[in-house]
Amino acid sequence: MNFRARKTAASRAAKAAGADGLLVTHRPDLRYLCGFTGSNAALVLAGGKSVLFTDGRYTVQAKSEAAGTRVVIAKKPVMTAACEWIVEAGIQRCGFDAAVTTVATLEAMRKAVPAKVRRGLFLALESPVSRLRQVKDADEIRKMRAAAKLGCSLFDDMLGYLQPGLTEIDVASTLEHRARLAGAEAMSFPTIVASGERSALPHGHASMAKLPRRGFVTMDFGVVLDGYMSDMTRTIHLGKAQPEERDVYDAVLEAQEAGVAMVAPGVTAGEIDEAARSVLRRAGLDRWFTHSTGHGVGLEIHEGPRLAAKQTQKLEEGMVITVEPGVYMPGQFGIRIEDMVLVTSRGYEILTPSIKAWIEL
Ligand code: ZN
Ligand code: ZN
Repeated sequence: MNFRARKTAASRAAKAAGADGLLVTHRPDLRYLCGFTGSNAALVLAGGKSVLFTDGRYTVQAKSEAAGTRVVIAKKPVMTAACEWIVEAGIQRCGFDAAVTTVATLEAMRKAVPAKVRRGLFLALESPVSRLRQVKDADEIRKMRAAAKLGCSLFDDMLGYLQPGLTEIDVASTLEHRARLAGAEAMSFPTIVASGERSALPHGHASMAKLPRRGFVTMDFGVVLDGYMSDMTRTIHLGKAQPEERDVYDAVLEAQEAGVAMVAPGVTAGEIDEAARSVLRRAGLDRWFTHSTGHGVGLEIHEGPRLAAKQTQKLEEGMVITVEPGVYMPGQFGIRIEDMVLVTSRGYEILTPSIKAWIEL
């Protein structure tokens, strides 16, 4: 793991934004920059130095996880200790992430420093570390590939389990149990299993509803391996489908494949969205496609870039994104298909190659 390179890149980003120090408190950012996974910590980067402040519960854990970073076990609130150090170290303008810092935390930061240096000391930055995290390094790609692969094998296994009459919660908990037995630290988010009419709910959490004899089942889930999350969706049909259900499925699949096919460095997030959306528009289904086409994924389930209409951010080699168009017809049925896609130098690699062709069980 190249924590040193990541810390240097974060310092450089802060410097480019006018800060000579950076205060980091968001847990995924801490894990990314120094390896520490505990809660209640603050990392300060300044002048080539890095200091991690945490509390006594993490004495052993912090020293082993954050090797290469100086660890201070604070006897006072970590934010107070970090801010006092910022003043002692002579930092003039210390950047912090405005997107993850609450008003109360900012107040505590200000209170922790003497009034005479308070003015202008803290500089609100726009997600300096999350932006770096959008482009994955080789170590991260290896971990994400492993998480995605586990997700695929769980889906393949679940095909042998699904049958009418099981509750959605039965399906979700069986999938989650199998994931944990296979080594997943956790699920990326509460597993979505939405069947029959409920498949028209884009984020239908698994309920006590029973899988129908005839109807769709959408499963959207992910596993966490070594901190990194997977995310995939497949929709299958139980029993014999109506021709219309089959037609809509084919349109969603065509839209999803069109979105994926566009993925390459330099293409904008909005162009991916449009590639998928335009297929559904031609099929007269776009008004049922009510969310954006995808998102970045990594240490968090929803990261940048956001793949939505008119987004001008360009894809870069090393980004891992999802492409997940869907059609949701209230009171009838819904279909979503989602892959995780790695942006490569020449185009893309699908990290979740489970079958997307029509499945009727
Ligand atoms: Zn998903
Ligand atoms: Zn997703």
